[in-house]
Amino acid sequence: MTDKTWAEIDDYLNSALLAPDPVLDDALADSAAAGLPSIAVAPNQGKLLHLLARMAGARTILEIGTLGGYSTIWLARALPPGGKLVTCEYDPKHAEVAKANLARAGFGDDVADIRVGAALDTLPALSGPFDFVFIDADKVNLANYVRAALELARPGTTIVVDNVVRQGHVTDAGSTDPNVRGAREMFDLLAAEPRLDATAVQTVGAKGHDGFVLALVR
Ligand code: SAM
Repeated sequence: MTDKTWAEIDDYLNSALLAPDPVLDDALADSAAAGLPSIAVAPNQGKLLHLLARMAGARTILEIGTLGGYSTIWLARALPPGGKLVTCEYDPKHAEVAKANLARAGFGDDVADIRVGAALDTLPALSGPFDFVFIDADKVNLANYVRAALELARPGTTIVVDNVVRQGHVTDAGSTDPNVRGAREMFDLLAAEPRLDATAVQTVGAKGHDGFVLALVR
C-alpha cells in the first residue's frame, strides 16, 4: 500500500463518518493562510481524540502543542457545560491563530485557556487534576511531558501521546534523530513507570505512517 492509498482511504472514512464542518475547515484554512505548518492531526484522528475525551467523561483537558487550535477544537467540543481546557503553545503566532479559531468555534478564554511559552515553563503554574491529556508538541521532550502530565493527573486520567512511531524509525536504537530518541526515552519511561498502564498503536493515513500512545493513570 502507498501513502496515496492511505490518504484515499482516510478521505473515504472521513466522508462516511464525519459531518461537513465549516468551523474546522476554516480553522485549517486560516492556519495555512497564516503560514502555520500543515501538521495538525487528521480529521479522523481529531474525532478519535474527541471520542476518547467523551468516553473518559473529561471535564478538564490539558493539551501540550496547540498549533492553530484544530485538535483543540475537537477536544473542547468533548467538554460538558462548565468544562475547561488548557492548551500550551510555544509560538505566539500559533497561539494568536488558535485563539481566533477557537473563538469562531465558540470557545473563549473562559473555556479554552491558551498558555504561551515553552510548555515545560508554563506547565508548573497549572493546577490539576486534568481528566484527559493530549501531548503533541516537540518530540524531544516527550518523556518530560509525560512526567509533567503525571504531576497534573489523578488515578483514571487518560494520556494520549501523538507521533511516537516516527515512520517506523522508533525501532532504531542507534538513531541520532532527536525526535526518535525522544520517543524512545518516553517508551522507556512508560515501561518503568508504575503509575501508568499504556499501549501504543501504529497508524497509517493521510499523515503517513506514525502512531500514538494511549495510557491510563493507575
Ligand atoms: N495539536 C495540534 C493539532 O493537531 O492541531 C498540532 C500541534 S503541532 C504538531 C506542535 C505544536 O507544538 C506547534 O505549534 C509548536 O509550535 C508547538 N511547540 C513546539 N515546541 C513547544 C514547546 N516547547 N512548548 C509548547 N509548544 C511547543
